[in-house]
Amino acid sequence: MTITEDNNARRPTWAEIDLDALAENLRVIRERVGREVKVMAAVKADAYGHGAVPCARRLEAEGVEWFGVALPEEGIELRRVGITKPILCLGGFWEGQQKACLQQNLTPVVYRLDMIESLDRFARDAGVIADVHVKIDTGMGRLGVRADDVSQFCAALQGLRHIRVDGLMTHLAAADDPAQDDFTKGQLARFELAVEIFRERGFAPSHVHAANSAAAFAYPTARGEMVRPGATLYGFSRDVLSPNITPPRLRPVMSLHSRIMLLKTVGKREKLGYGCSFETSRESLIATIPIGYDDGYRRALSNRGRVIVGGKLAPVVGRISMDLTLIDVTDVPGVSLRDQVTLLGRHGALTITAAEVAELAGTISYEITCAISSRVPRIYANV
Ligand SMILES: *Cc1c(COP(=O)(O)O)cnc(C)c1O
Repeated sequence: MTITEDNNARRPTWAEIDLDALAENLRVIRERVGREVKVMAAVKADAYGHGAVPCARRLEAEGVEWFGVALPEEGIELRRVGITKPILCLGGFWEGQQKACLQQNLTPVVYRLDMIESLDRFARDAGVIADVHVKIDTGMGRLGVRADDVSQFCAALQGLRHIRVDGLMTHLAAADDPAQDDFTKGQLARFELAVEIFRERGFAPSHVHAANSAAAFAYPTARGEMVRPGATLYGFSRDVLSPNITPPRLRPVMSLHSRIMLLKTVGKREKLGYGCSFETSRESLIATIPIGYDDGYRRALSNRGRVIVGGKLAPVVGRISMDLTLIDVTDVPGVSLRDQVTLLGRHGALTITAAEVAELAGTISYEITCAISSRVPRIYANV
């Protein structure tokens, strides 16, 4: 054997990101909400693990009007690669980031007066007007001006010469849950009242928005002029949308794959993995695959997860460890070393969705794709 050096050689574990599926999901959303409604694509948290830069590039090319990120740092990353559409920083900004927001043309969400006052000072010094979106807390209880304080807040804002209220927004806590319909309607009513107060005080926000994916699909009145989908863009629906709506035909954007690195026959009543949590009930063919919880293949899937190999579903056996996972391939005819293993996504006639994996791991789709770590390269299809 000769030793060759190949700098591109790597472990065969990867996530494929299908940008055509992303574009198609955007079209499905637009069809549902109507062409006149703008779309702010939520690309925070590296586009829910899908890669913010390639996703934003494609979405910008597809005509998305706005981007939503959590942190100014994430917005700066998008500006650095040439994204020009408006970017809303959903969590606001941190002390010391006022200048960066102004220079990079990032629009912060604001919810504290001291925050807006400091931005006003920076804008004055720079000789510019800073756009902000004011967030109203109508029931989520997380960020926002409390609905009861809106009048007072407005009055204080009127004194700030270098701030322009470009938008008003709120966030709904339970738009996916028909049992919480009254609560959601209450949130929307409180928001409408807050918008009214701003308008009476002479503010003329160009963007009034409330709807995440769940609300965009279930509450037409929440759509306003703009919706803020994230999860549905990435193809999640079962654990995102209300069970009462006709499920849209969304396509998963991420799939996760690896290859068999070792195959072995083990006898009946052998224990496998840390803690000896699995014991074979028959002579078994066991495969080792190079992916573990450090890659985001969650340990909670130990003895529960399933993967696709050779056109069959194969169970995860034993504890998932940091870098390795065992699967039982006894019932997979013709299985061999280096065969592709699909942990998420479609292979042949079989599909494993993020929602299925999430249910087994006791969480939601969002957390499954966000958790796929940077150790797993993203391979972009249909760029
Ligand atoms: C993340 C986020 C969204 C998108 O929510 P999805 O459920 O992924 O559609 C919308 N609005 C705000 C404020 C968010 O933080």
